[in-house]
Amino acid sequence: MLRLSGLKLPLDHPAEAMPAAICERLRIAPHELLNHVVVRRGNDARRKNAIQLVYTIDVELADEAVVLERLAKDHDVRLRPDTDYKFVAEAPEGWSGKRPVVIGAGPCGLFAGLILAQMGFRPIILDRGKVVRERTRDTWGLWRRGELNPDSNVQFGEGGAGTFSDGKLYCRVKDPRFLGRKVLEEFVAAGAPSDILTEAHPHIGTFRLVTMVEAMRRQIEALGGEYRWQHRVDELELERQGDGTQRLRGLHLHDGGFIEADHVVMAVGHSARPTFEMLHRRGVHIEPKPFSIGVRIEHPQSWIDRARFGPCAGHPVLGAAAYSLAHHCANDRTVYSFCMCPGGRVVAATSEEGRVVTNGMSQYSRAEFNANSGLVVGIDPQRDYPEGPLAGIDLQRRLESLAYVAGGSSYHAPGQTVGDFLAGRPSTRLGEVIPSYKPGVTLTDLSLCLPDFVLEAFREALPVFGRQIAHYDHPDAVMTGVETRTSSPIRITRGGDFQSLNVAGLYPAGEGAGYAGGILSAAIDGIKVAEAVALRIAAGQ
Ligand code: FAD
Repeated sequence: MLRLSGLKLPLDHPAEAMPAAICERLRIAPHELLNHVVVRRGNDARRKNAIQLVYTIDVELADEAVVLERLAKDHDVRLRPDTDYKFVAEAPEGWSGKRPVVIGAGPCGLFAGLILAQMGFRPIILDRGKVVRERTRDTWGLWRRGELNPDSNVQFGEGGAGTFSDGKLYCRVKDPRFLGRKVLEEFVAAGAPSDILTEAHPHIGTFRLVTMVEAMRRQIEALGGEYRWQHRVDELELERQGDGTQRLRGLHLHDGGFIEADHVVMAVGHSARPTFEMLHRRGVHIEPKPFSIGVRIEHPQSWIDRARFGPCAGHPVLGAAAYSLAHHCANDRTVYSFCMCPGGRVVAATSEEGRVVTNGMSQYSRAEFNANSGLVVGIDPQRDYPEGPLAGIDLQRRLESLAYVAGGSSYHAPGQTVGDFLAGRPSTRLGEVIPSYKPGVTLTDLSLCLPDFVLEAFREALPVFGRQIAHYDHPDAVMTGVETRTSSPIRITRGGDFQSLNVAGLYPAGEGAGYAGGILSAAIDGIKVAEAVALRIAAGQ
């Protein structure tokens, strides 16, 4: 089979236009095309009056070698790559060694656990939170009644931070082994819509994710894996070896329990602050890393659809429009849109009492009234939090506490209209845009909870973005804050063997360890780390 990419057809093309376009592009007669399968579909909306669909297609031809030779210089035509996942190890029949442990049941831990289970290593998966249905009730407790459960919320529990999300499933990591394909195929097997395999920017939405993580849990358990909920890891048991280095021997739990373990995947996510503090105390190598801070901004989805798709706005093939914006400011800061959620809502995403954090989510239909996106500024340790490895967490906490107070100390988020923000006055009333954040929004002045350089950068970037997306800087657009959990503020540094630089047996993984940023990249990292663990166990190390 050959893979043909970059094939463009008009938005409303009839089905028969595709084989005709393939034949024309490959310069073959219709009878030479034996079969074709769409692998990916995106769109090119740069010309709003002539939006095109852009396809990648696998084609079976009567004589592929001839076509390949004729189009040797055409980078859009090549042999179909082998995207099948291949296990790197397999536990011997009846294996009864010390079981690997995975801490965290987010996308990274879920895929680390799944791959280990599929290879026969019967992992134990620990999570401080609860199974997803119970967790959903706790999360709604904050959204509906302003009651936070610090162990069971948007950040913590089965499915991890991405469970109540837009469920965007794409990332920019290099993936020469097509591990992302393995992730998407497992998701489809667990109940995700099959279009995630072909859409260029696939997404699942919240409710489907809930049932999928349950189906994946059942698969892991059927393969001999085991979940333990409300099992928070509070300490590591370390042993000093002859050469002075340390080796992990087990895990102490918050309830006094102890689990012996020689291989531990630490996939605790970017909000596991007490765990990061414990690792730092125990001397595990940690370094600060850049992340971003800012607010969520909301517009009616119809404004974004019109700005992006012009007369084709609302076309069912295009769905709700997304956007991606960036501007480098005179104060040497970059403002950019982050985790854009078309047709969704802004959610309360704190995991700590007395703090307010915003994020975004949607359903598969993306049919809610507003579009929302993080509007954030990149910050880095050298310039903004040079005081040590955990200083980024201190900064996050400070801003989140200020937001809590500015919101009225009730988990309401502080909000301001763009018009008032640009005019430098507190907001006292809303215009056309009604913010979606629950339990509620307190109109105020966002300068109460953000550093001056962020405000300055927003003031410059908003009108620039307004020239790229009409009405982006409309006076009635609403900003709610603060968005601080954009990625991990630390990296738990690991070596080429995926183990911590100075603690053997500890495998930092996923977003919390600084090796992923999003559901798909966290899941891919989980697979890689599971493979490293399996290879060491198989080698008797
Ligand atoms: P997490 O998903 O954070 O999972 C970590 C797990 O570890 C948690 O379940 C936690 O309970 C557990 N844990 C923590 N500490 C301990 C401990 N000491 N002991 C035991 N267990 C512990 N990304 C996208 O790609 N697309 C999106 O649309 C998207 N939307 C998002 C919307 C929201 C509201 C949020 C909060 C995030 C969103 N993200 C999205 C980001 C995405 O969710 C994360 O990048 C991803 O979940 C990271 O995966 P992870 O497995 O590394 O960590």
